[in-house]
Amino acid sequence: MSISIEQVNKRFGDFVAVDNVNLNINTGELTALLGPSGSGKTTLLRIIAGLEQADSGRIQFNNEDITGQHVSERGVGFVFQHYALFKHMTVFENVAYGLTVKPKKFRPSKAEIAKKVNKLLQLVQLDWTADRYPAQLSGGQRQRIALARALAVEPKVLLLDEPFGALDAKVRAELRRWLRRLHDEIHVTSVFVTHDQEEALEVADRIVVMNKGAIEQDGTPEQVYDHPANPFVYEFLGNVN
Ligand code: ADP
Repeated sequence: MSISIEQVNKRFGDFVAVDNVNLNINTGELTALLGPSGSGKTTLLRIIAGLEQADSGRIQFNNEDITGQHVSERGVGFVFQHYALFKHMTVFENVAYGLTVKPKKFRPSKAEIAKKVNKLLQLVQLDWTADRYPAQLSGGQRQRIALARALAVEPKVLLLDEPFGALDAKVRAELRRWLRRLHDEIHVTSVFVTHDQEEALEVADRIVVMNKGAIEQDGTPEQVYDHPANPFVYEFLGNVN
């Protein structure tokens, strides 16, 4: 699923959160939106998701205009910083959730749901946790379950907002490798918000650098890292070793 963002603007009062953004994301690409806090990354992600409406501009998925479409119609999966797992549900029930709430017409049978959930739990190598509750898992394990849950509905687009932000450095590093591996296996078009340049450099196929609501750089990790033309980016990426 390709994503096309055309002249998208968003203000909150007088504050310009997203400033005339144009961006095309290719099918199967893992794109990082990188930038300091307050640069408009989350707002742009929420506009792509349909959780927020742009003031002007257009969003297309595979050349189809979805600007006014509700989040539930867009076929997107989410992973957020704070695990949004349901505490009172087992891991199995959490991963199955998106399938069980589908309208009857589209809902798979119990056996099909079980097969799919088990396959996803194997994919994130946590099949042994199926009957446990989120509180019995580590932070990193919970985020892997959140990923499995987002993938259960076979999203056309996977959106991740600082997915590893709440984890300690070692687990973060492990989960970055994890996300990369998973993405190589599934090839779902993914957009991933981070303020961590190292994370973007390690995980992404492409890095889009945002500052003050606008795109300042756009390229492969190598291109963005090596490009000294933009002082902000140079300063921002320059301290990566
Ligand atoms: P980032 O993800 O890069 O940290 P955000 O997109 O979250 O940036 O926010 C950009 C700016 O917009 C921030 O300064 C934030 O305070 C402001 N903002 C975001 N959402 C709202 C909102 N619902 N109401 C008012 N201001 C908001």
